[in-house]
Amino acid sequence: MTFRFSTTNRPNFINVLKSEQFDLLVIGGGITGAGVALDAASRGLKVALCEKNDFAQGTSSKSTKLIHGGLRYLKQLEFGLVKEVGSERAIVHKLAPHLVVPEKMLLPLFDGKSLGYWLTSFGLMIYDWLAGVKREDQRRMLTRPQTLRHEPLLKKDGIKGGAIYSEYRTDDARLTVEIMKASARHGVVAMNYVRVANFVYDDQGKLSGVNATDEQTGESLIIKSTVVVNAAGSWVDDLRSLNKSKTGKRLFLTKGVHIVVAHEKLPVKQAIYFDVHDGRMIFAIPRGRVTYIGTTDTPYTGSKDHVVTYQNDAWYLIEAVNTMFPDVTLTIMDVESSWAGLRPLIYEDGKSASELSRKDEIFESPSGLISIAGGKLTGYRKMAERVVDMLVQKYFNNRMLKNCSTQSIALASHTFTSYQDVRKYQVALRRQLEPFGFSILVAHYLVENYGQQTDTIMGYFREHHEPIEDKRLALLSAELWYCTHHEMVVSLSDFFVRRTGLLYFEIEVVKKYRDKIAFQLQTYLHWTDTKKETELRMLAKEMEDASNFS
Ligand code: FAD
Repeated sequence: MTFRFSTTNRPNFINVLKSEQFDLLVIGGGITGAGVALDAASRGLKVALCEKNDFAQGTSSKSTKLIHGGLRYLKQLEFGLVKEVGSERAIVHKLAPHLVVPEKMLLPLFDGKSLGYWLTSFGLMIYDWLAGVKREDQRRMLTRPQTLRHEPLLKKDGIKGGAIYSEYRTDDARLTVEIMKASARHGVVAMNYVRVANFVYDDQGKLSGVNATDEQTGESLIIKSTVVVNAAGSWVDDLRSLNKSKTGKRLFLTKGVHIVVAHEKLPVKQAIYFDVHDGRMIFAIPRGRVTYIGTTDTPYTGSKDHVVTYQNDAWYLIEAVNTMFPDVTLTIMDVESSWAGLRPLIYEDGKSASELSRKDEIFESPSGLISIAGGKLTGYRKMAERVVDMLVQKYFNNRMLKNCSTQSIALASHTFTSYQDVRKYQVALRRQLEPFGFSILVAHYLVENYGQQTDTIMGYFREHHEPIEDKRLALLSAELWYCTHHEMVVSLSDFFVRRTGLLYFEIEVVKKYRDKIAFQLQTYLHWTDTKKETELRMLAKEMEDASNFS
């Protein structure tokens, strides 16, 4: 029996976890774990997944939010990686065209910086060719005047020209949640707030399951599984240590920070990838009413559970912007919000943070723990395919399982078949929203977040908005209802950070409505008043971390 992916079904899911024998248990509800769970279940395996916090709460909500080929990997001559992630972009766009949207990137070229004009032109040609980019979307080289017309804010000093090339923009947390929902539709028992505390072994010392804790109730449970995959991102080595198998290669963590400013403070006309004085490159990406800027890349050894932006991280990005756009004078006061994440890279002797490869690797321990580390958001599907191919061959080759088919499993229920359909739907939704006084940005936000699942949210909104004078609150309430009953929202932060992105991109909305939303979630989840107050305090701390830097 399958249950709806609703928070109200948590007790049912916990019972299933406790009572059944699984083929595969995945530890970690980031994009890697979600991808592995979907791939395995869609081939016919019986799968469970445990995430100790919320889905995507690790690195998978803290990226640059690009589904990209990784131009910098071309610079590092990692052709295989560029080809794989480059081709994957088009596949992931097809699977969720509302959520993985085409974004033209401007690459300004300056005397003595990065690659020269002709090398860049050649490099981008190779980039497009490796990724199989359609002719009409292939790179276009620009003269100096054309580049400055594309982006008049750029510094004029030393500019030689530029290039426009194709990438995709996404919301990493929503992408992870949609993959999780798709996996649940294929029978995966996927739980947030269930922490794997230890491993369980059989008489021969082979893994036979895990000991876990439901973080919501404190209940301990044993989950029995033939195979256990460790997709714990930055925590992969902690679980390898617990399994006494942390030998050979190990993780090296680097911190990456993004800051968010109002679009009018950095009114770039399109996404830009530009040089910084230290030889690195960063992005400035317009998104709705804001522009976000990132990222930094610094070695990290602090707490993995509390990664925050420091003032010097923010200043690094601000100075990079102010140098590249001389008429822009950002200060720390302009930063509305931020996020900081960890890259789980594989350590290599003698290489700096930026030089380490972003390739993924699979390790298998003598007791059978399969750990997957490294990789990128963009390559999650291929990474999952490799892991599941290996599992099938090693553990389930006597079973009649299907081949990998994730290249054609749509990632949202009622998905679009093309980007043109997304645009048409957006126009129709705008018309529906206009009478309630919503701007076009709200239509874009809803469609990019939920796709056609917006119909369900609008259905709830139409039925319940009348008594609520403030229509933004009525709409938010409809979103909360949807995210709790279809996307496993357990806390205020799940809703404001990883289902809606509002804490990053519209922090004022969070400030204005958090009390009312807390009251509504209290009703859904039967919180006591003390629990509601704790939740509000935790959200306030998260807002403080995102916007006030030490
Ligand atoms: P995570 O998302 O960290 O997931 C691991 C999960 O395991 C966590 O949620 C954690 O809570 C859980 N976990 C840990 N221990 C346990 C336990 N004991 N029990 C249960 N659960 C546990 N890639 C791109 O393709 N495009 C980009 O634009 C991009 N930009 C990036 C920018 C930055 C700053 C960073 C840091 C990375 C970026 N990446 C990008 C890389 C990409 O974000 C990561 O490769 C990807 O998100 C890693 O996903 P993951 O699932 O492996 O790890």
